[in-house]
Amino acid sequence: MSKTLFDKVWDTHVVRKIEGGPDVLFIDRHLIHEVTSPVAFLGLRQRDIRVLYPERTFATADHNTPTINQHLPVQDPLSANQLKALEENTKEYGIRHWGLGHYKNGIVHVIGPENGITQPGATIVCGDSHTSTHGAFGAIAFGIGTSEVEMVLSSQCIMQPKPKKMRITINGALGKGVLPKDVALFIISKLTTSGATGYFVEYAGSVFAQMSMEGRMTVCNLSIEMGARGGMIAPDQVTFDYIKDREFSPKGADWDKAMAYWETLKTDEGAVFDKEFVFEGAEIEPMITYGTNPGMGIGITKEIPDAKQAEEAEATFAKSLGYMGFHEGEPMEGKKVDYVFVGSCTNGRIEDFRAFASLVKGKRKADDVTVWLVPGSHVVEEQIKREGILDVLTEAGFSLRQPGCSACLAMNEDKIPAGKYAVSTSNRNFEGRQGPGARTLLASPLVAAAAAVTGKVTDPRTLLQ
Ligand code: SF4
Repeated sequence: MSKTLFDKVWDTHVVRKIEGGPDVLFIDRHLIHEVTSPVAFLGLRQRDIRVLYPERTFATADHNTPTINQHLPVQDPLSANQLKALEENTKEYGIRHWGLGHYKNGIVHVIGPENGITQPGATIVCGDSHTSTHGAFGAIAFGIGTSEVEMVLSSQCIMQPKPKKMRITINGALGKGVLPKDVALFIISKLTTSGATGYFVEYAGSVFAQMSMEGRMTVCNLSIEMGARGGMIAPDQVTFDYIKDREFSPKGADWDKAMAYWETLKTDEGAVFDKEFVFEGAEIEPMITYGTNPGMGIGITKEIPDAKQAEEAEATFAKSLGYMGFHEGEPMEGKKVDYVFVGSCTNGRIEDFRAFASLVKGKRKADDVTVWLVPGSHVVEEQIKREGILDVLTEAGFSLRQPGCSACLAMNEDKIPAGKYAVSTSNRNFEGRQGPGARTLLASPLVAAAAAVTGKVTDPRTLLQ
């Protein structure tokens, strides 16, 4: 019988089927961080339960870490406590921990792939919604809650109802200045933030086939923003080339064995999806959001729609525009920008900094804009330096911060002040997400670069060589 990629991976991980209930799934890799793990460890301790497979669990500190002076003691007491708890818990339970200052430290969804922990056909969970990122490798990856973190630590399994299947195909090619982030924001603007609720999405078509692994991660990362349980892309040569020779990727005969399996991980001809969408790459232009959810996005040359055209209820739409200080029918181009943030597990990878540098090269940072450039990991930071990107940034008046989640959710000191506008490459523009009263415009690293040199929302295509 023809099977989808999703079915193939899911079915091989079912340990037990519960009649009329969820499946019990085996989890290959469990990623943990300082925010959602302390209570889970407390639960284990209270019940005197050990971690079943410490070697399948990987810990990093990212949400609460400062992005400057990481060598100094962490000032915020809550953050310092959480970082200390992660260190102590991982030590007690024998779990690998890449904490603050470790050369492999970084955002959980950046370090997993770059160390070869993320592999095709695997099941991966983490107490963070954007775990969907890892689906870029043909894995089933999804975010879980704190009690589920405890469940996975103790049993390496999780109970999950099987989601329905959706395929989103984008044919053709992307135009100049259009990046994977634009593809994701375009899809969410079409489907809305609840359009994929209850589904697991497979992305297919030539646009994804031509995309780098970094780009695929950006797209899968944002799957959660349209309500999907996760997103995935069938592994291909681009995937295999990315994984080869990374620390935790299989070696020698194990590599050949893994490849024999990975090459079967594609949707069979004739396999049926519960829902399908098809778009053309040429339809997509650089995107920007104008409201307070990621579905409120438009092409950068467009005007803010009126309430009748929008998917939101009229009152919600009006409240959202009120928060942002915008009005129906206004163009987004030309709006003043106070802050630019490049980073997060959505766009904190090397390709994102390459894109940013390609636009700002030979230009100057706008005087009245504060720009935070935050690599997703130390490995990315090193790559930025090694490739000469830091020199380009420095010459243009920018500086680089140290790795962490930073202004993605402002759990550290990197908060956008109330009322200020931030063009951000992160994933959520909810009210207060980047700090109380902060106003977030989600966009690609190129749109961020254009804003950083002009001080306003600018179509990057007008600035590209
Ligand atoms: S960058 Fe943002 S979404 Fe990603 S792991 Fe950190 S807080 Fe979560």
